[in-house]
Amino acid sequence: MTEELEALRAAAETTARRHQVIERIAWPEGARIAVNVTADFDAMLLRRLLGEPPMQLAKGEFGGRVGIWRLLELFGQHGIQATIFTPGRICELYPQAVRAAAAAGHEVADHMWEHRVPKEPEVERAHLRRAAAALERLTGRRPIGTRSWHTPALLREEGFLYNSHEVPDHRPHYIFEKDGAGPLLNLPFHYAIDDAMFFNFAWLNSENAAQRITDPDRVEAMWWDAFLQQYEVGGYLNICLHPFVSGRALRIAMLDRLFTRMKQLPGVWFPSCEAVARHCLAACPPR
Ligand SMILES: [Zn+2]
Repeated sequence: MTEELEALRAAAETTARRHQVIERIAWPEGARIAVNVTADFDAMLLRRLLGEPPMQLAKGEFGGRVGIWRLLELFGQHGIQATIFTPGRICELYPQAVRAAAAAGHEVADHMWEHRVPKEPEVERAHLRRAAAALERLTGRRPIGTRSWHTPALLREEGFLYNSHEVPDHRPHYIFEKDGAGPLLNLPFHYAIDDAMFFNFAWLNSENAAQRITDPDRVEAMWWDAFLQQYEVGGYLNICLHPFVSGRALRIAMLDRLFTRMKQLPGVWFPSCEAVARHCLAACPPR
């Protein structure tokens, strides 16, 4: 065996040791599937961080002015309890929307202070605390979840119960650190169920040839198939939306059709990440 192959195998074994999948989750009240609807309320912050031109920033602003409100209305119509991952700075830019999300019963969770995690540990801690305090000021509740690159040990120290970021499995799982510390619960998403992968022009400063403007019907069919596969095995589906992407009218209409269709089957549960996390931690704690 070549050295390279041995190194890959050792890395795969370490990863397998660090990840503890919850093999079988019995959802509350006989639910067959947890459809975890999440929205990353980035507005223009990520675009700004990448130094994108004003037109792209304006597209992000649409998410804060229009998109988030359309999503909240849609979630309300369908009785969906969503998780809105919100950078702390969004509280200064769109406070009414953050308050409205919390007032409607959605979970408002951390998405970093300004969509980045500083390298210096003390600055990182300050960012996480500043974001948590900003969210708490508007919602009355300190966040217990995040979608971020924040250090797992820091998240645990600051009282966070879960991250919804890593993608090594399609079901909720526990991730231990390399030294065995932890774990922290991860509620995985996948880029195949992420609106930005299908509906974005100039995403991450990409060239024109790399654009992703997909017919909403095609995305609806793909996401329906993903849902049905998990429904049949009794599983979990994390749907990752962005108000500046899915807030456009045609995509709202697509999501409306998709949720309507899902709700026609019995046992479809639309919980927030917090509800999923608290259920997993209580019913299937780490071994
Ligand atoms: Zn984001």
